[in-house]
Amino acid sequence: MPASDDTLADIYAEVLRRNPGETEFHQAVHDMLASLGPVVAKHSKYVDAAVVRRMCEPERQIIFRVPWVDDAGEVQLNRGFRVEFNSALGPYKGGLRFHPSVYLGIVKFLGFEQIFKNALTGMPIGGGKGGSDFDPKGRSDAEVMRFCQAFMTELYRHLGQYTDVPAGDIGVGGREIGYLFGQYKRITNRYESGVLTGKGLSWGGSQVRTEATGYGTVYFTREILDARGDSFDGKRVVVSGSGNVAIYAIEKVHQLGGTVVACSDSSGYVVDEKGIDLDLLKDVKNVRRARIAEYAAARGASAHVSDRGTVWQVPCDVALPCATQNELDGPDATALIEHGCRVVAEGANMPCTPDAVRRFAEAGVVVAPGKAANAGGVATSALEMQQNASRDSWSFEHTEERLAVIMRNIHDRCLETADEYGAPGNYLAGANITGFIQVADAMLALGV
Ligand code: GLU
Repeated sequence: MPASDDTLADIYAEVLRRNPGETEFHQAVHDMLASLGPVVAKHSKYVDAAVVRRMCEPERQIIFRVPWVDDAGEVQLNRGFRVEFNSALGPYKGGLRFHPSVYLGIVKFLGFEQIFKNALTGMPIGGGKGGSDFDPKGRSDAEVMRFCQAFMTELYRHLGQYTDVPAGDIGVGGREIGYLFGQYKRITNRYESGVLTGKGLSWGGSQVRTEATGYGTVYFTREILDARGDSFDGKRVVVSGSGNVAIYAIEKVHQLGGTVVACSDSSGYVVDEKGIDLDLLKDVKNVRRARIAEYAAARGASAHVSDRGTVWQVPCDVALPCATQNELDGPDATALIEHGCRVVAEGANMPCTPDAVRRFAEAGVVVAPGKAANAGGVATSALEMQQNASRDSWSFEHTEERLAVIMRNIHDRCLETADEYGAPGNYLAGANITGFIQVADAMLALGV
């Protein structure tokens, strides 16, 4: 084993020791370190200055109490997190996730991925992530508002347009960003638009931000297909999830000539051979906030719902996991491979398990990692910050064109880097190495 791999193995052992029990964080770090052998072998400066070691340790981790009063007048208690991981390229930037599964290990995995994703966008943003174990499911609008206000009452002191700029993630959409921004403004007496992204269009938000993660994932996939002389035309596509990322991925696939035949939520999945009816899906998930079974019930003969197995048993050419981490495992990958799937692009963060990634690689299935494929969301957040800073607002068409160009650039840079470091066509290696080098060079320039 070359010396560089020994060094990386030591660094990984140190990460395990320092962060016991944080399995998702371990997985994300392992995925990155596994790509860096050829880089540290070629450039000893990254090892000498402990850049990789420093990168694996967040600059700051904030954990706080979030007490709030529910509709029955009972005091509820949750835990809030913000991990300010790396500010070499710009203010910390990354979403907030409200979900009962949230604990420090999830926030750190997301924050770690965010560093390199944000670097790949080419925009001046560092990496961070936050959230809470608060479960918005079944909570009234007033309860969500009070929770958001309590969360921001602590978090505001750590934020600022030049310091740390949160946005949404799972469980945090336009409504929550509104309540969070309102509380920030109330406490600070500053209309600091650039302190949060994903704002509403009438109060400082950007066109395309809502659609950006899903659209961007599909734009990235279009580039992959294009590089193979192929296109979305006539492709069968399966999307997991039915939240913000999934909905706009489905919309863009349909605009580009493909057909999404299945999508899912935590209760099961629907197969619709005519193609998912997006108006109906938006109504079921966003207006009624109901389960996916209601889609099948309303759609009639072409659709059926299942709660057995996973959506990955549905045959397709292209798979877009857009739900959550580790949702697509080894057996799912094998099912997709056997049914002829050729391209997988991660709309969610780290949705494929390491076993799935290995099986795809062995079968020659292309996998685009989330930090590249879903970077359109945070890239459009950076465009929102740009518009806020110049007190301007751009048209939908202009903003979408910027997004499409950003996704093409990320795609091309991943492929070029993969080539340069001896892994032609490998988007995982390409994304990891490109993101790493950009952040590492900035860290070296800024000193210890
Ligand atoms: N949560 C999104 C992500 O995973 C967006 C973050 C942002 O816009 O800051 O990239």
